[in-house]
Amino acid sequence: MHFSTRQLADAIEALEHESLDVLAGFVACPSFSGSEQTAIEYLEPKLQGLGLATERIPLDSAQLRTAPLYSPSCDPDGGRYNLLAEHHPRQASGKSLLFNGHVDIVPTGPEHLWSRPPLQAAVKDGRMYGRGAGDMKSGIVCAMAAFEALRRLGAQPAAKVGFNAVLEEENTGNGTLASVMRTMPYEAVVIPEPFDESLMSAQVGVLWLSIELTGSPAHVAYMASGVNPIEAAIAVHAGLKKLEAEWNRPEHRHAAYRGHEHPINFNLGRIEGGEWNSSVPCVCRMGVRVGFFPGVTVESVKQAVEQAVHATLATLPSRLGVRFDYKGFQAPGCEFDLEHPAMRALAGAHEKVNGTQPRRLAMTATTDARHFQLISGLPVTCYGPQSGNIHGVDEWVSIVSMRRVSTVMAQFMQDWCGLEPI
Ligand SMILES: [Zn+2]
Repeated sequence: MHFSTRQLADAIEALEHESLDVLAGFVACPSFSGSEQTAIEYLEPKLQGLGLATERIPLDSAQLRTAPLYSPSCDPDGGRYNLLAEHHPRQASGKSLLFNGHVDIVPTGPEHLWSRPPLQAAVKDGRMYGRGAGDMKSGIVCAMAAFEALRRLGAQPAAKVGFNAVLEEENTGNGTLASVMRTMPYEAVVIPEPFDESLMSAQVGVLWLSIELTGSPAHVAYMASGVNPIEAAIAVHAGLKKLEAEWNRPEHRHAAYRGHEHPINFNLGRIEGGEWNSSVPCVCRMGVRVGFFPGVTVESVKQAVEQAVHATLATLPSRLGVRFDYKGFQAPGCEFDLEHPAMRALAGAHEKVNGTQPRRLAMTATTDARHFQLISGLPVTCYGPQSGNIHGVDEWVSIVSMRRVSTVMAQFMQDWCGLEPI
């Protein structure tokens, strides 16, 4: 069985209304990291609707704790589970393929900043808006649309194809870790993260930590008798920014990031502390995300960050206490082999649909691709639609880009897995 790229594109286009309806329903699920179950329950029957049996892979931190790449959980397991839906061919003649995608979304911030409620998907000017519309519910929908389009053409992959929907990608990666530990015998993995139809060639490492500073409370009338940990946090942050600048210096760069303007980002994402405007506060807690280059170990990053914090504190009043707490990402960076035959086939599928080779992207964030690369040694990359404002306000995904990505995925299944009649 063989279809022209035009036939595949037409089959995808014929499905577009349905796909957008599926995406809108998916966006409506309030699947914030740690409470993703609504989205998993939404997807399970949709995957079964593709004729696939689904398996639930529980998130079991006690079991994962000793696994490589484990990141300390931010939320209780709470009975949450990942999904794996597998297609098995009648006769396997091609190569197998896994689509992996996360269903969790990040907080929306204040709703009044959005043009419309963030979980109420809306189509406007060729885009679908909503939290998660880009990152990355659309990518999962593209993969499912590609499979369904083949079915409507009377075909199915002539190799195993899996759909792995996972939890907690946005703060630990433990959903994919649980899936990988269950064993993942696949010959290629594609994660449709919304990276503008580029193939990801590398990703940075990410460490999360919280820094708790304890000062000495006092009435502001006698402010000099107290020690203000919030003011100390401002100094600690400035010290960390110096370390960030150091790591970004051209001579300290990893080769994959030479062309980037600012690949390593330290983000003070949360700060809380203080009790009263007229009291020198007791405690300040900083939630920090630290990026670092591939090849650098998580342990050495912890050391460097703690050293930088202590160096700043040494310049401040000695009555400040400090405590480091590590929950969330402990994710090393890595590079991906885009010359592997599987990745070349994906690039080739992109070229058939678009007429040009895909761009390559050294990503300045982490993705779950690290588990497949570093634990399973499988050829893996991210390839997904164009989007904007991910993690921001008025997040969107381009509908025409979804159409192209879905077509590339159908083409890739034809080229890599082969097809057989249903
Ligand atoms: Zn994502």
